[in-house]
Amino acid sequence: MIPNQNYGNLKDSYLFYNIAQKTKAYLEANPGKRLLRMGIGDVSQPLCSAVIEALKKGVEDQANIETFNGYMPECGAPFLREAIAAHYAKRGIKLETDEVFVSSGASDELGDILDLFGHGKTVLIPEPAYPAYVDANVMAGNKIVHLATCKENGFLPEPPESDGIDVIYLCSPNNPTGAVCGSELLKRWIDYANKTQAVILFDAAYEAFIEEPDVPHSIFEIPGAETCAIEICSLSKTAGFTGTRCGYTVIPKALVRGGMQLNSMWVRNRTTKTNGISYILQRGAAAVFTDEGQRQIHETLSVYKRNAKTLMSALEEAGAWFTGGKNAPYIWMQCPDGTDSWSFFDRLLNEIQVVATPGEGFGECAKQFIRFTTFGNPSDTQEAAERIKNLLK
Ligand code: PLP
Repeated sequence: MIPNQNYGNLKDSYLFYNIAQKTKAYLEANPGKRLLRMGIGDVSQPLCSAVIEALKKGVEDQANIETFNGYMPECGAPFLREAIAAHYAKRGIKLETDEVFVSSGASDELGDILDLFGHGKTVLIPEPAYPAYVDANVMAGNKIVHLATCKENGFLPEPPESDGIDVIYLCSPNNPTGAVCGSELLKRWIDYANKTQAVILFDAAYEAFIEEPDVPHSIFEIPGAETCAIEICSLSKTAGFTGTRCGYTVIPKALVRGGMQLNSMWVRNRTTKTNGISYILQRGAAAVFTDEGQRQIHETLSVYKRNAKTLMSALEEAGAWFTGGKNAPYIWMQCPDGTDSWSFFDRLLNEIQVVATPGEGFGECAKQFIRFTTFGNPSDTQEAAERIKNLLK
C-alpha cells in the first residue's frame, strides 16, 4: 500500500509546533523565567454565563428520559440552525435553515469542505494566510496559486486578470494581518468567481471583532455571493469556544457548479462522514445567539479590544509600523531594521521573554512581519506592551 504521497510535499513542521519547540528549549535553558505568550491565537477569557447555563441545562436534559437525545441530525440541531439563520436575518441576509450547517469548528470544516471539489484543483490563496489553508490543499494534492499581498496594498488581495482558478480563499477580518475586505472589493471577487465559475471559501472566523460600521460581516451581505460563495464561521474567537468546539457553515442552495448543487452534496457528505455535533454543545452554542448571549460575548470581546488598544499605543510610542488591532484580534507589525521574522521572534523571546508569531509562517511575503495576539489576559498584555516598547525604543 502506498499512502497519500502528497503528505511528503508538506513543509517540515507546522508553525506553532516550531514556536512551541523554541519556547520549550528557552524555558529548559532558563528555568523560572516568566514568559508572556502573545503568539498562538487562543482565548484567555472563560465562556459567558449564558453559555454555561445552557450547557448545564443540556447536561440535565441528557439525564431524563423525556428530554434525552441520542444521535443528533448530522447537519445540525434544528434549534441551532434556526438561531444562526435568525442571526443572519438581523443583518438583512435571508437564509433557509437548511442552508446553515453546524460544524465542530472552522479548522475541521476548512479541510473537510475540500471533499466537495475533488482532487487536483487549482486553489488561490491570498497571503499572508492562516497556514491550514495551504496544508489542507497540499494534502489534497491541489495546485496552489499563492497571491502575495503587501503593506503597500493594505494586505488586500485583488482578483487576478486570468481565470483557471477553481477555489478562492478569502479571510476577512484577516488572520494574521487584521485587514478587512470592504463591500466593493468583495463585489469584485464575487463578480470574478461568478464569471469564471470558481467558488469562494469565505472565512469569517473573526467577524465579531469588526468595529467599523461599513465593513461586511458576511460575504452574503453582497449581492451575487449566493451563487459563488461558501461561508465558514466559528464560535472559537467570537464566544471563547476554542476548547468547547462549535462552528457553522453557510452553503446557499443557489450555489451550483457543473450542474450539481453544493448544498445537497454537503448534506450527503455530512450524513456519510459525521454523526452530528454533541447535543449539549449545540445547546451551549445556541445561547450565543440570544440577546443576553450577544451582550455577554461582546463584553468579553471588549477585554480583547482593550488589550489591542494597550498594545497599539505602546507600538505607536515606540515608532513601530503596524496594522490590524481594530477589526481583528491581531496586530501585524513590521520587524525593525529589516530583521526577518524568526530572528525577531528569537530576540523577543531571549531579550524580553515575549512569545509572538513569526510572519514567515503565514507565507513567503510575510517574512518581515510579526503577529501579536490580543487574546491574553490584560495584565500580561500590559506587561508585554511595556517590554516591547522598551525593546523597540
Ligand atoms: N480560520 C482562521 C482564520 C483562524 O485563525 C482559525 C483559528 O485560529 C480558524 C479558522 C479555526 O478556528 P476553529 O477553532 O473554529 O477551528
